[in-house]
Amino acid sequence: MNIVLLGPPGAGKGTLAKTLTKEFKIAHISTGDMLREAVKKGADIGKTAKKYMDRGELVPDDIVVSIVAARVSGEDLKNGFLLDGFPRNEKQADRLDNSLNETGKKLDLVLYLKTSQATSIKRLSGRIVCVKCDANFHLTNMPPRRKGVCDYCAGKLIQRDDDREATVKRRLTVYESQTRSLIDYYKQKGILREVSGDLDIEQLFKSAKMLFEREGLS
Ligand code: AMP
Repeated sequence: MNIVLLGPPGAGKGTLAKTLTKEFKIAHISTGDMLREAVKKGADIGKTAKKYMDRGELVPDDIVVSIVAARVSGEDLKNGFLLDGFPRNEKQADRLDNSLNETGKKLDLVLYLKTSQATSIKRLSGRIVCVKCDANFHLTNMPPRRKGVCDYCAGKLIQRDDDREATVKRRLTVYESQTRSLIDYYKQKGILREVSGDLDIEQLFKSAKMLFEREGLS
């Protein structure tokens, strides 16, 4: 099964993606994670991407599309994949279709996490991430056992640079102006399904899983 998760920053895409990909044994492809990895490694792509990410802007399409195209055409995706954070505009969506066509694949479903702005802001402003293993926590919704310390690897927990207030505002504006139109784009293709991103993560997982089963995808 080949899935796209769509929704504003703070909709819970990353957290949901982790549980769904584990449950259905499909690959998790997160462009945000891949870009952050490139930044950490000091790769050329990472250096360019960081300038955009720190401002809450989209990284240029050519960079992101080339990383995704290489990944979705990989042989290791026999059970399928879940794309998290990609596509983010219609050009990326068209290029994704082309890459999939070339390898005889197609998208089965686009899951839209319809999320209020209040939820997005609450999730992003309280999010803390591990500098070592990238695990995510939340100051109130999912606090670590020890303050400031990762439950899994004892790494230090910090706020992501782009989760600061001004950048969060910009990311939400960028979503409205560049990404939201993908809802209609995929509606017209007949593959858009919706669940509420305002649900807590366990409920969200249950709703998504039930929907996949109803759609005959499990
Ligand atoms: P995310 O972790 O998905 O919220 O992404 C963090 C940042 O990475 C975004 O604010 C963008 O700067 C960049 N990014 C991630 N995915 C994309 C994409 N598909 N197109 C352009 N930029 C992206």
